[in-house]
Amino acid sequence: MNTIKYEIKTRTGEIRLPEPLGFGQIFTDHVFEMDYNPSKGWQNFIIKPLSEMSVHPATMFIHYGQALFEGMKAFRHKNNDVVLFRPDKHFVRLNNSARRLCMPEVDVNFVTEALKELVSIEKEWIPRKEGEALYIRPFMFGLDPVLGVKPAQSYKFIILLSPVGAYYPEGFKPVKILVQDDYVRAVRKGMGECKTPGNYAASLLASEMARKQGYTQVLWLDGVEQKYIEEVGTMNIFITFKDEVATPKLTGGILPGITRMSVLHILKDWGMNVTERLISLDELVTRFDKGEVEGVFGTGTAAIISSVGELKYKDRQMIINKGEPGQLAHKLFDTLTGMHSGKITDPYGWLVPVQQEVAVS
Ligand SMILES: *Cc1c(COP(=O)(O)O)cnc(C)c1O
Repeated sequence: MNTIKYEIKTRTGEIRLPEPLGFGQIFTDHVFEMDYNPSKGWQNFIIKPLSEMSVHPATMFIHYGQALFEGMKAFRHKNNDVVLFRPDKHFVRLNNSARRLCMPEVDVNFVTEALKELVSIEKEWIPRKEGEALYIRPFMFGLDPVLGVKPAQSYKFIILLSPVGAYYPEGFKPVKILVQDDYVRAVRKGMGECKTPGNYAASLLASEMARKQGYTQVLWLDGVEQKYIEEVGTMNIFITFKDEVATPKLTGGILPGITRMSVLHILKDWGMNVTERLISLDELVTRFDKGEVEGVFGTGTAAIISSVGELKYKDRQMIINKGEPGQLAHKLFDTLTGMHSGKITDPYGWLVPVQQEVAVS
């Protein structure tokens, strides 16, 4: 039995959230932490006040990037119930990243319970306005202070919580995406499937270049031939063709999104013709020219659904659906955010309630 130690700091002042909330700017009072070493496994389970972290300058992850993270959300319903969206799937994916990076796996049930405890302690931090949420950032890193390229022996796992604002405070606006073929984010059989820091470092230059040209994000092509579309920034991508909703199949270079998985499920449930397959940029451009591309949208925990209004590749500027949000993207956004906020009942059992009472030991 893993017992969590509680070191709870009582707040003196009221919680004041900044306006606008933004993303990942502020953090709640407490974190969950645990440590790993090869002889004892995971140990020192604790919910404690958030504080600065002091590590040795030789700490392995700083040098060789042996680290991973997850990103999910908790939502507050009108009646004040708090729910998590598919936390089990997120922790399973965390374990998949861990195996690829030679890091220890976690017990999915235990960390889910620990997360529920933490969220219920920090319940007052969950913002109340439409579209706002508590962003949950579990992460793990190699801790040994040794400058050798090999897997670390000891690890730290932390869950950090951050109240975040609505992604579309002014309504559901389409984004402009630049197709990138000068750089790639990840390659098949590399680490593209893992939420690991290096992938995001690899994406920064192209993202900055896109931003300078007035584009929100980058559409990545496959790492081998730069022929097939893979994903957008930190979102998976879907194309609504005339007779089919298609998304790139998971070939190893793409992050397998939980929102992607949920959207595939919902679309099948709606009786639509959904496929996971290779989609070449050529096909996308050719079919756009024939008027067969009805919509393009991204899926991910941060934005949930993001409608794409423009795709630019070299000198080609493709305006999708007159730059207006696609109908399907809109319907999916309303469905998923409706489930999150409790306006729509969740028919799939994806929402996991956080218990109200906490036994403080
Ligand atoms: C997190 C992430 C996604 C979306 O995954 P979700 O589980 O839906 O949030 C897509 N692509 C990348 C690169 C990501 O990091």
